[in-house]
Amino acid sequence: MNASRETVRRGEPSRSTAVEDDATILADVTAPLTHATALDPDRTIVDGTDALFGPESDETISDADQAPATPEAEVPEALRANPVVARLLEEAKRRSALAQTTASEQRTTSTFGAPPASETAAAAHEFGHHETGHDVGHEGRRFQEELGLLRGPARALVERGALSERRAVSISLQARDAGVGFMRALAADRTNVDMQLAYGAIGKTLGVSPLFDKSEAIKRLVECDWLPPDLAEQWQMLPLRSDRDGVAAIAMIDPFDLVARDWAHRRSAAQTVEITPIHPDAFFEALRRYRALKHEMEGGDGMFVPIAVNWTRADVERAELTHLDVPAVVNYILHRGYEQGASDIHVEPTGEDLLVRCRVDGVLQEEIKLPGRTANMLASRIKVLANLDVAERRMPQDGRIGVLIQDHPIDIRVSSLPTVHGEKLVLRLLDEGALRPRLEEIGLPDRELRTLLDKISAPFGLILLSGPTGSGKTTTLYSCLSSIDRRGRNVVTVEDPVEYRLKGVHQTQVDENLGLTFAGGLRAILRQDPDVIMVGECRDAETAQMAVQASLTGHLVFSTIHANDSVGVVNRLIDMGVDPFLVANSVSMSVAQRLVRVHCAHCQTVVDGRDVLANLRAEGVSLEKLESLGIDIAPDLPAIVTLGCSHCRHTGYAGRQAVFEALALDDDLRAMIIGEGFDVRRFRREARARGMQSMLEHALTLVEEGRTSYSEVVRVLGES
Ligand SMILES: [Zn+2]
Repeated sequence: MNASRETVRRGEPSRSTAVEDDATILADVTAPLTHATALDPDRTIVDGTDALFGPESDETISDADQAPATPEAEVPEALRANPVVARLLEEAKRRSALAQTTASEQRTTSTFGAPPASETAAAAHEFGHHETGHDVGHEGRRFQEELGLLRGPARALVERGALSERRAVSISLQARDAGVGFMRALAADRTNVDMQLAYGAIGKTLGVSPLFDKSEAIKRLVECDWLPPDLAEQWQMLPLRSDRDGVAAIAMIDPFDLVARDWAHRRSAAQTVEITPIHPDAFFEALRRYRALKHEMEGGDGMFVPIAVNWTRADVERAELTHLDVPAVVNYILHRGYEQGASDIHVEPTGEDLLVRCRVDGVLQEEIKLPGRTANMLASRIKVLANLDVAERRMPQDGRIGVLIQDHPIDIRVSSLPTVHGEKLVLRLLDEGALRPRLEEIGLPDRELRTLLDKISAPFGLILLSGPTGSGKTTTLYSCLSSIDRRGRNVVTVEDPVEYRLKGVHQTQVDENLGLTFAGGLRAILRQDPDVIMVGECRDAETAQMAVQASLTGHLVFSTIHANDSVGVVNRLIDMGVDPFLVANSVSMSVAQRLVRVHCAHCQTVVDGRDVLANLRAEGVSLEKLESLGIDIAPDLPAIVTLGCSHCRHTGYAGRQAVFEALALDDDLRAMIIGEGFDVRRFRREARARGMQSMLEHALTLVEEGRTSYSEVVRVLGES
């Protein structure tokens, strides 16, 4: 058994199989699905998958999986700017030239069918298959097929009409870039992809019915020793119930991942591993349940306390609220906050009542009112959970609670503040499992997005973000870091606090009590051979100086800084005592942002400008105010407003979106910073003359598109 596996792993891959039609795909793919077959020395695993995954050894399979080859015209403009893609395109060109020569040699020398002697010959051999029998017509298509870009699942999906060729190419490139298989890349980027259709096609290709439904997946989950949740997430596989002896059943997002399958086979020590493709949504839901299941079985590690809710709002309001009820009420409050997507929960004694308010989409709203006498009981309960000193009521304290709500691990930062009416508690909810948007999805206008991607791919520079607390700059920072090639670059951060954990990024947390400050952390990071550094905030002159120095010594540095707009960032650095010459030469981009709430999709209606103006006046917004902001509302033009409904808690808004102002420095602007008598206003005018869009302008385009309202724009940007 072992010997034969060695054969599988190291054996000369056969280069004689080409996928001709659906039937062959089916045969080739299903054969190696069970490892019993795969480990038969006479029918090696590489035999069946060679055509699917390319003639490469097991070790490099994830790289070889999606060979980089596509004509330049097929790659979207935005992607081409990416240095990784650029490199791949170069390689594709080189291989294309190679293919042209070898293919023609092939025809003239008639060596088709001979065993490959070198990489060149092997490539020629592979192409030879497609050349025989028929004339290939379309040049671009032949190019792709010959270079084998669309192989395996990518090809099966295109052939079954579940994916456009263009998307398949783009996803193949992303897979290559991320070093993962095609299906994993597809699960990560589903833009314009019907995943239901895609997994249906994969199921047909493999002859296995895929798991689409999360409750079905959860029902089939089984406890499994060899697959702890972290590894389940890493390999994107989950154990399923299996009735047969010696058969390990697993569900995988990417059933074509040979390395993962081999790993599962070894870890499970089962004779056969049966694989069921699983829709990514179902997978992640089931994974959450699997985590919770494991957690319960192991009695919990104290990190995350599962929160059960057995009380409704009516129960809370009706209850006598004795000490016994308090845990249920706290659970209810945490659960409610989470359910509404609140970022913070405020528990505040007002004298008569205990008010619970939630901050949803940046705005506080009353959740529930409890009798004032419950204030101490509730505060004590929350403080116990957060490991705070319950007896201490006169000094501010802070701590954290880890809870599991609906199988989501939520990290809650608790802070207490003594007020004249008693202790006020604020609970900040950090959902570590929440999905971080990709940089392309945070709402940056095209031009700004391209510039930012360009600056991010540069080897050094200083990218600064500014905006008040809750303006979404942390999300933007994390999106920037996620878009960095973390395999090839050492990415290190110092943060306060670490809000999200990012794979492949080394994150440190500031701890003032231990004396670990931003500046101290940054100093330590610089000794760690970093390529990319993220400093949570340039809070003081020392940190700002060091961030600037780091970027000038060949590092790409990200940070946030307190300033009103992108131009103000430059001024702020100078104010902090950084030499203007160094500022001018280090800052590559400065981005300011705010969050505006977006209209609820369920209660929109069309009115005319007159009504909009009347509403604004009713809200206390004067015509002068609008004028000073440069907002001009035509009375006769139609405008979209929302009425408020149950979907949006009658606020008319659901969710938020960022508005940006991005400043990229060019030589003239740099000269202005260094020049005598730097004037912010003049500098701003120059930047605007170069096409820099202000946050207000960006916000107004959103109003034009009906995505948000004038009153929201005035609320968010009225003071700046
Ligand atoms: Zn609504």
